[in-house]
Amino acid sequence: MSVPVFRVDGGDASSPVVLHVPHSSRQISGPARASIALDDAELVAELDHMTDACTDLIAARAAAAARVRPWMFVNEWSRLVVDPERFPDEREEMAAVGMGAVYTRTSHGRRLRPDDPAFAQRLLDAHFHPYAQGMTDLVDERLAATGRAIVVDVHSYPALALPYELHGDGPRPQVCLGTDLAHTPPWLRDAAARAFAGFEVAFDTPFAGCYVPLKHHGIDDRVSALMVELRRDVYQTEPGGEPHSGLDRLAASLAALVDALEA
Ligand SMILES: [Zn+2]
Repeated sequence: MSVPVFRVDGGDASSPVVLHVPHSSRQISGPARASIALDDAELVAELDHMTDACTDLIAARAAAAARVRPWMFVNEWSRLVVDPERFPDEREEMAAVGMGAVYTRTSHGRRLRPDDPAFAQRLLDAHFHPYAQGMTDLVDERLAATGRAIVVDVHSYPALALPYELHGDGPRPQVCLGTDLAHTPPWLRDAAARAFAGFEVAFDTPFAGCYVPLKHHGIDDRVSALMVELRRDVYQTEPGGEPHSGLDRLAASLAALVDALEA
């Protein structure tokens, strides 16, 4: 694979904060495209539903506005190639609906690509494992430099539940904050609730959890993490439409969160 799997935008040497953006890209690799059983118009529609549009832009604006620049880790490829947030094995509950790390179903339950374990393994080798290693390395670097690391996932989600969602009947606040029992301490929950106080906020609904590298998960309490899920109608016309002024408010709140975490 000649194109890098992820991009790291360097932050300040003193910053423990990593803004992690896994789902903003619409880029599909040649082999992945060849495996997808949708025509071009159907693929555009699927990308409109599944891409966390503009979350890279929101994170970049927040990084630029923060008093101390945080680090950014951005997936260069679409989640329709590989979803780096999913477990690549039977631990993943989404695998039951064809949406493990390598999706075989669309957001509406249609066939996306054939079940082909050998091909899926090649995608995992090319994308999933280098990505996981990259995040692990960046977290280790922040630990070495600052003695702690704080991973803030930046996602977005549709106002109306998509058929694939397993917990789609829960409340859908403007800002959903996903937490981990071991890695989201009260000070981090409180800082996020304060930073997004201008919005309707709830924890772990309709999406729960956050990304912690396996090397550190449940083992290293110097690593903290939180997922920020922004409801898309707050900043764009859905699905896949242009952003509007809500984007600036969300970026400002995310910058306020970064400032609070670095204080
Ligand atoms: Zn996402």
